[in-house]
Amino acid sequence: MFVLLFGPPGSGKGTQAAALASRLAIPHVATGDIFRKHLREGTDLGKLARSYMDRGQLVPDLVTCDLVASRLGEADAGNGVLFDGFPRSVPQLYWLIGHLGATGRRLHAVVNLQVADDLILGRITGRRTCTNCGATYHVVSAPPNTDGTCSRCGAAVVQRKDDSEDVVRDRLVAYANQTFPCLEQLRDRTPIHNVDGVGSIEGVQGRIFGALGL
Ligand code: ADP
Ligand code: ADP
Ligand code: ZN
Repeated sequence: MFVLLFGPPGSGKGTQAAALASRLAIPHVATGDIFRKHLREGTDLGKLARSYMDRGQLVPDLVTCDLVASRLGEADAGNGVLFDGFPRSVPQLYWLIGHLGATGRRLHAVVNLQVADDLILGRITGRRTCTNCGATYHVVSAPPNTDGTCSRCGAAVVQRKDDSEDVVRDRLVAYANQTFPCLEQLRDRTPIHNVDGVGSIEGVQGRIFGALGL
């Protein structure tokens, strides 16, 4: 099963992805997490990605699709993936449809998390992210058990550089101009489940599972 977890930055994709991927028994593939791993390791790809990420712009499609192609080539990803933050542009979407289609595979469902812009800003500026495992927290709604320390792995929890207010505004523009139009392209191809992303984390999870009939 190939499923897209779709929604603006801060809508809760990363928060919801682990439980959903585990319920569907498919790996969770978040392009943002993979880019951040390259950033930490200082690879050439990481250096290139950083120049875009720090400005709230999309990393170029060719680079991003190459990265996804190699991830999809790994043994665990052949029969299904939960994509989080990919595709993020119409060219990426058509690349993915073509890439899966070349081997008789297709997209099965889209979960579109809906959160209004005025809530997004508070969610992102309050977000804290584990420097090791990528787990996300929120200073108000979902703090780690111990301040500054990841409850999952014990590493330091920090604010992402691109989670500052001015960069968030540019990310929301990129979402509106480049990412949102994917939904229109998906409409006649793949079932889109619109899910209200506001409310408790458990409540949102229940709505996602319900929409997918799980
Ligand atoms: P969020 O979950 O808050 O939306 P992500 O971690 O998914 O943020 O992405 C962070 C940044 O990484 C993006 O602003 C963009 O620069 C880059 N990025 C992630 N995924 C993609 C993608 N599919 N295409 C282009 N750039 C991407
Ligand atoms: P995305 O991956 O879509 O960018 P995240 O899952 O990282 O979004 O969530 C963004 C921020 O909002 C995080 O700080 C997270 O803890 C918080 N958050 C996620 N879901 C909820 C929710 N249902 N209610 C309140 N805050 C939430
Ligand atoms: Zn961690």
